[in-house]
Amino acid sequence: MLDKVLIANRGEIALRILRACKELGIKTVAVHSAIDANLKSVKLADEAICIGPNPSTQSYLNVPSIISAMELTNASAVHPGYGFLAENADFAEQVVKSGFIFIGPPASVIRVMGDKVEAIKTMKEAGIPTVPGSDGPLGNNPQELQAIAERIGYPVIIKAASGGGGRGMRVVRDSKNLIQAISITQAEATSAFGDGTVYMEKFLTAPRHVEIQVLADGHGHAVHLGDRDCSLQRRHQKVLEEAPAPGISGPIRQKAYDSCIAACQKIGYLGAGTFEFLFEDDNFYFIEMNTRVQVEHPISEMITGIDIVREQLRIAGGLGLSFQQKDIKMIGHAFECRINAEDPISFLPQPGTIKSFHAPGGNGVRVDSHIYNGYSVPPHYDSLLGKLITHGSDRESALLRMMTALDEMVVEGIKTNIELHADLVRDPAIKEGGVDIHYLEKKLGLQ
Ligand code: ADP
Repeated sequence: MLDKVLIANRGEIALRILRACKELGIKTVAVHSAIDANLKSVKLADEAICIGPNPSTQSYLNVPSIISAMELTNASAVHPGYGFLAENADFAEQVVKSGFIFIGPPASVIRVMGDKVEAIKTMKEAGIPTVPGSDGPLGNNPQELQAIAERIGYPVIIKAASGGGGRGMRVVRDSKNLIQAISITQAEATSAFGDGTVYMEKFLTAPRHVEIQVLADGHGHAVHLGDRDCSLQRRHQKVLEEAPAPGISGPIRQKAYDSCIAACQKIGYLGAGTFEFLFEDDNFYFIEMNTRVQVEHPISEMITGIDIVREQLRIAGGLGLSFQQKDIKMIGHAFECRINAEDPISFLPQPGTIKSFHAPGGNGVRVDSHIYNGYSVPPHYDSLLGKLITHGSDRESALLRMMTALDEMVVEGIKTNIELHADLVRDPAIKEGGVDIHYLEKKLGLQ
């Protein structure tokens, strides 16, 4: 088993990883930027080390600094969390070259999945259904581009191969805007991701975002932990998630699970991963694979009782999975609200000092958060304050628990989106379940 893990992240996920390490008797090293010296994970870790100034490019994205911190502290492995370096294949490679363990899949797998064109090609070959599209990067010949769009049928969406975080996408509704939209997306992708490669997909008009969580030990043993519905999104960013996705028939679901397991075996997947799909008219269409732990992983943990981060640590330590598919029982339903420091109207981030924080509690309520009374939310990073998760024996009871928990939660000193969530869990269509990816933006008057 691993003896000392360096946590190359901050916020709630750094704390989440720290807790899992402690339970397994693994020593922890927290790294932090100058302003993050007061993070809960920094205070609770066995060792802490400042890796640079506040901008993430100079700290949490600073590869030489993180590798030096591993050398200095004698850590054996690094957990990247999500965001920052979690899906950076060069980092994973550098970690291994320096003699350490990267907690995640091999760099080669991260590289393939990080290029969405390659990822789609690989998944198609592995038998996973994909969105009808250009089957590869777009060239420059206007006639050919028009022909591809005609074949797919409008509306289409132009997507950056290296895109992420909901950026680098553009919907095109008719042929007269196609060529210009492609060149704008190419230019944006070049400046944002350093790679102007774009591809084209059918723009599904009312899909749901349904994803499947997997764990694989790299020795041919892979399991799934069921699915999650993350359709409630704003600007392609998830806001509220649930597990399992409501209203999908058993056989359709099982077919998708089977194809994910087969794909894991085919690509030699290792660690935790998520297959993201759009789900429309009872069909799953693969859009991308995330080769890391996801923000919304707790809802899968709540329905399966499996600690995903613990399994990541065990797998990285060479221990393999501690259970088989048949041992996994899905019980009840879970919801997660992402609690952000943001203005409820403009959605602008709201850094500042938390004057008081009262966490909700009770049966089936989980709070994954690093905030505390007097904690200052810095302006340099994302605005996630934490996650409120509820579990119930069925969807209705989990949702009722979420209503109660949200009403109990108090964060004073900065604005948050707690009220937005309180409104969402009372929304008749959301209570009913199965809304599409446009529902939230339409409700907010953004579409
Ligand atoms: P990112 O890596 O930036 O998260 P994804 O490929 O996962 O990008 O897409 C993010 C979101 O964009 C999806 O959850 C969905 O809301 C929307 N989206 C992506 N592709 C399509 C498509 N072909 N049709 C409709 N919506 C799409």
